[in-house]
Amino acid sequence: MSFASDVRGELARLKTEDLCCARSELAAALLASGGIAWRGRSRYALSITASDAATVRRFFGMLKRHWGITGQIRALSGDALNNQVRYQLAIPEEASLGLLQALGLLDENGLFGLAEVPKPEITGYACCKKAFVRAAFLMCGAVMPPDRGYHFEIALPKQSLAERVAECLGYYEIVARITGRKNRFVVYLKRAEDISDALTLLGASSAVLAFENVRVRKEVSNQVNRQMNFDASNINRVVEAAEAQIRDIRYIDSELGLEKLPASLRDMAYVRANNPEMALSSLGELMTPPLGKSGVNARLRRLTEIADKLRSGEEIRLGGRRAPKDD
Ligand SMILES: [Zn+2]
Repeated sequence: MSFASDVRGELARLKTEDLCCARSELAAALLASGGIAWRGRSRYALSITASDAATVRRFFGMLKRHWGITGQIRALSGDALNNQVRYQLAIPEEASLGLLQALGLLDENGLFGLAEVPKPEITGYACCKKAFVRAAFLMCGAVMPPDRGYHFEIALPKQSLAERVAECLGYYEIVARITGRKNRFVVYLKRAEDISDALTLLGASSAVLAFENVRVRKEVSNQVNRQMNFDASNINRVVEAAEAQIRDIRYIDSELGLEKLPASLRDMAYVRANNPEMALSSLGELMTPPLGKSGVNARLRRLTEIADKLRSGEEIRLGGRRAPKDD
């Protein structure tokens, strides 16, 4: 089973809530699954189609409990392209008009007397906003398993519907984006935190646990990798600095002779050249008298300056005396 179908399975089995939420869920399910067909003259055929039986059973139970309507469930075999069985809940035609009315889906100015989104009061309460997103996800949702990446989406047939779903998420401070894909309007989340919040909001608590486990594991290993990369690049920097210092010291030795340097610099040059891999603080301990890290640093910088001046032919002043460039 995929992570997405685990989430759907969990949501489909949640206890159905109050009438207000059942209304909101059913409205979303009908719109998201494109299950409202006009049959002429205020006659409509309503159905809800889903890829899993549990989702269809959820709406079957809801209709029965809250409206006393007995739907009919049947399995639709897949076509040549998509070999997946789908399940359809058909609502008796004589119940359709009353149900559309109850769900706030009739609009005398709309095409075929239908609204693209339910009347605002259907998703008015906080609990009903949650229910609306849940049903939209059950019908058209997908979520990537967290070990593969972070992506949550609900791909809806109408822009107005996508906007209502995003609005409902926004009420809970989950900021979703909408993008077009083929003839769908996709409400999506990319941040792990938002996806986790959305799953929590919809009521998929076991899926949230699984999601968080992977997410924490990933973040820890990212941190470890970052730390290791940081350490490696630090080591590289130290090694490169030491190599450059030793090059400078050799250059001074060949051009000027280390013995011409003041004792403090000459000792530093010997200690550095003989211990190419040693850290600055340890180099300091080899000096007599011992030097701190900043003292070591200052002397090494001075050696580099001398080497640079030798390279460019500039005059060098050592300990206040003028040092002859050629001897
Ligand atoms: Zn409600």
